[in-house]
Amino acid sequence: MSKTHFGFETVDEQEKSRRVAGVFSSVAQKYDVMNDLMSMGLHRLWKKFAIDLAAPRPGERVLDVAGGTADLSSAFARLVGPTGQVWLTDINNAMITVGRDRLLDEGVLAPVAQCDAEKLPFPDNHFDIVTVAFGLRNMTHKDKALEEMRRVLRPGGRLLVLEFSKVWKPLEKAYDAYSFKLLPWLGQKIAGDADSYRYLAESIRMHPDQATLKAMMEQAGLERVEVFNMTAGVVALHRGYKF
Ligand code: SAM
Repeated sequence: MSKTHFGFETVDEQEKSRRVAGVFSSVAQKYDVMNDLMSMGLHRLWKKFAIDLAAPRPGERVLDVAGGTADLSSAFARLVGPTGQVWLTDINNAMITVGRDRLLDEGVLAPVAQCDAEKLPFPDNHFDIVTVAFGLRNMTHKDKALEEMRRVLRPGGRLLVLEFSKVWKPLEKAYDAYSFKLLPWLGQKIAGDADSYRYLAESIRMHPDQATLKAMMEQAGLERVEVFNMTAGVVALHRGYKF
């Protein structure tokens, strides 16, 4: 059985999938409030930047991979309008249920599918835009997931990967203190779950840095890959095209 990482631990691949599912099933109900608290609202700006760079046009088809509670799907649905289509997808039932309910509450008619990013149930060359926000880090075979996202893009389509990344060196110490002390404490206080937020901090440290992820996207066949750092590299947006 092949090994992989779950945070700082080395585990069997199946064990990783099981534990990632445990994390998101545990945090789903408090996910949105924790996001606002942990990032002091910044995740809204990071996501807005990703949407701006995706530059959706009315009538376009968008796939939101690992879309969770539907922040991106909700915004995209308004921008592509009634002639476009946005699919909310995620592997986790608890997360996607929160997302689906939210879209229904907002009156957004978007199809929802529970699926693994590594085996997307969509035809080749179908979407104008594919996005994955804060999801790639949790996937076992990131290379496979990137290849799948490229496969379902139409030629000329763009893939946007929004993810935590490598912070600017002078800020590392302060960021570590925040991540390994404050985050688990907040997780315990608000969601009654310190471990999931410890995993969050560890998984960020194990995720490929800006240059490595860019190379992985190119390896998966994406072209003209650009990297945009935000908040001193706490988060990076990678945009690549399929031609
Ligand atoms: N995109 C949302 C956002 O930005 O708020 C949710 C991000 S949440 C941190 C990560 C999501 O990735 C979770 O909902 C989790 O279930 C999903 N995920 C993890 N592994 C996945 C996989 N292999 N395929 C699809 N989704 C996955």
